[in-house]
Amino acid sequence: MRRIVLTGFRGTGKTGIGKILSSRLNVPFIDTDDLIEAGTGRSIPDIFHYDGEERFRSIEREVIASLPAADVIVSTGGGVVCDPKNMEYLRSKSTIVLLVADIDTIEQRLIKKPRPPLTSLPLHEEIAAMMDRRRRNYYASADFCTDTSETTPVQAAENILVLLRNGVPTTSQRNTAMTFFRTGRLPEVPLRKLEDILVGTQRDPTTRIMGVAGYPCAHSMSPKLFNALFDHYHLNYHYTWFEDPELDEIMNVARSIDAKGLSVTIPFKQEVIQYLDEIDEHAAQQIGAVNTVVFSCGTAVGYNTDWLGVRKPLISMKGAKAVLLGAGGVATGAAYALKDLEMEVTILNRTPEKAKKLAERFGCAWGTWDIFDQIRPDLVVNATPLGMQPDTRNPLREDQLYKDLTVFDLVYTPPVTPLIEAARLKGCRTISGTEMFIEQAREQFYLFFGIDVPAEKVRGLIA
Ligand code: NAP
Repeated sequence: MRRIVLTGFRGTGKTGIGKILSSRLNVPFIDTDDLIEAGTGRSIPDIFHYDGEERFRSIEREVIASLPAADVIVSTGGGVVCDPKNMEYLRSKSTIVLLVADIDTIEQRLIKKPRPPLTSLPLHEEIAAMMDRRRRNYYASADFCTDTSETTPVQAAENILVLLRNGVPTTSQRNTAMTFFRTGRLPEVPLRKLEDILVGTQRDPTTRIMGVAGYPCAHSMSPKLFNALFDHYHLNYHYTWFEDPELDEIMNVARSIDAKGLSVTIPFKQEVIQYLDEIDEHAAQQIGAVNTVVFSCGTAVGYNTDWLGVRKPLISMKGAKAVLLGAGGVATGAAYALKDLEMEVTILNRTPEKAKKLAERFGCAWGTWDIFDQIRPDLVVNATPLGMQPDTRNPLREDQLYKDLTVFDLVYTPPVTPLIEAARLKGCRTISGTEMFIEQAREQFYLFFGIDVPAEKVRGLIA
């Protein structure tokens, strides 16, 4: 039996429900907080009070790393989900069930069975604030989710057993989903694998599906990368292509098979917003485009990780003078990233009105390409398709490149574009579009699973 891990805020019933599951499935029950107290010979409030939260988290990480790998029910501390290393250990070969409850219910339960406060706020406000702060980590931790607000522990345990036995989609939902995938352009082998998972006789109901939503999206590197990461981290997931001209169709199928999430690509990054319950306040709301959707506990939350893919490789260039070539979808996230790094940005675009519109949105200068030579930037970011196979044109002339210029070409097919090649010859620092892909994918993986994948790992898997 795969290890069953319960996550959730205090007062959602992890210990009581865990014990019932343990007796129903006849496997041992482990409470990580109990292990910490037994191992240190001290109470958790005592460790918090005398040694601080950091020390507690370090002991907790050791305990999580030493948990048995199978045949056990584990109840975790409420803050465990915020540590990516914990999530890596807990997720391995496990099924994680997130327990949720409404704030009033949790408050009532905590009043009956008081625990040391986590903040100096009154109890109700503390629960609201902490749940809000950790909510995305809880969502990322969940393979399945169950609401315990109105159930007894026995009923909640029963609901979990049904989930583990049947999974979420009904037989007819799974058959309908297979019809959808068959009408797309999925090659034979992925289609057969998907069929095994969704409707095959050996079906494991706890295997979750997710994928890339786009039209077309057959070229996407994401299925190869994500499936390799699932193998590496022992996650019971399968990543596929949700390719259809109608986003409505894609969203219906994704919801009906209880997909864990979607990577969203062209042409749906704006359109998808209307299907979401919530969008990331920092990026997706400002950029107006979502490339990551996480489904959890009946909600669909949208994020944008593209801008982080541009931002991360440029962190050391805070305050630089930058030129952004292009004013389309990717340029919007790039402009947001460059401004977030407090750069002085000029947007140059073939169609000047579009450059002006984007520049006004983010407080940048703008113009057409012929003013490039007047700017002499520290950084140039290419957000046009120039250089992308089969168009092998270089967006800049050789004489526009100089040694102290950093060149970031967001085009990643081919990995070494004509612009990167010419810039290298001139002794410029160069960053290829693959770096953007790697960083945005790492962020996506973190939002989906709470695990921090090293950049080197991703680089190796897509090579
Ligand atoms: P988009 O919305 O269609 O925008 C394309 C931009 O490039 C527009 O500003 C357009 O100018 C300009 N442009 C197009 N052809 C041009 C030409 N021949 N000469 C001069 N300017 C031209 O496309 P996008 O979604 O932003 O994608 C842009 C590129 O980013 C893609 O081709 C892809 O290579 C790259 N990308 C990289 C990643 C990654 O992870 N590294 C992810 C996604 C995309 P007008 O406004 O005048 O039309």
